[in-house]
Amino acid sequence: MTANSPTALKRPAIIINPAKPVDIDVRALAAKHCSENGWGDPIWLETTKEDPGVGQAKEALKQGADVVIAAGGDGTVRCVAEVLSGGDVPMGLLPFGTGNLLARNLGMDVTDFDGAMAGALAGTERTIDVVRAARNDPDKEQVFLVMAGVGYDATIMADTNEDLKDKVGWLAYVDAGIRNLPGKPVKATIVLDGKTVVHRGVRSVMVGNCGKVQGGLEIFPDAKMDDGLLDVAVLAPRGKFGWFSVVAGMIGKGRGKDTSVEYYQGKSVEITLEHNDDYQLDGDHEGDGKHVLMTIEPGALTIRM
Ligand SMILES: [Mg+2]
Repeated sequence: MTANSPTALKRPAIIINPAKPVDIDVRALAAKHCSENGWGDPIWLETTKEDPGVGQAKEALKQGADVVIAAGGDGTVRCVAEVLSGGDVPMGLLPFGTGNLLARNLGMDVTDFDGAMAGALAGTERTIDVVRAARNDPDKEQVFLVMAGVGYDATIMADTNEDLKDKVGWLAYVDAGIRNLPGKPVKATIVLDGKTVVHRGVRSVMVGNCGKVQGGLEIFPDAKMDDGLLDVAVLAPRGKFGWFSVVAGMIGKGRGKDTSVEYYQGKSVEITLEHNDDYQLDGDHEGDGKHVLMTIEPGALTIRM
């Protein structure tokens, strides 16, 4: 294999979502950094609607890429991470999405593409946890890096106007949230590390690996993406001012007597709903579901930035 011969130059694979408009010349940027760092030409792979990144990441590994750079939004990042998790090829990030939530949680400057490209080739490495989410209807196993949810927050993702999301980002989610009010609760059973912790009507269950969403709101104030634990937030607004107390609970870290938001931490969480509800992973609506088992995989993904 040429990739292993002593004279072969290292090569990055860049998995790019062509649907994300960027006003920079990505190919020129990559060429500049590859040449400066003594790397060979990048392997370019474009995502499609049918294959938003998993197939491309597998192809990148097959071609012997030394780093796989996800150039897109959190959806692209999630698909690339699904393939790289558990392996030893690091992931780089070119944050071209709307939310860029993983990049933000990693403390990256999401407007500095030059810095992002330099970091992906020659930056420092760190490992982060990934969360594996397994559903049985449909039978599907995926990973996520930021947060997943069933119920209300997933309904927001499903209902968010894509054009609006591109233009105004987080405000689009807020708009969708307002249009979805008021919601009906769904009976949920939540089993954390084998122990039932919730069995009642809830509006949303969110599972986080990172804490931050856009607009400075921290859904999971205690979440760390390298502590081997996942964070669970159960939202069950009550009464006329229910949603206000949910938001107030989050802003006020939700540690008071307010039962509108409850937080848990563990290594695995199994969520069973009485009926199907919306399901989202890192901001991508993934249809409906009523059962999912989520398990943390500590330090499974290496990021170079
Ligand atoms: Mg954690």
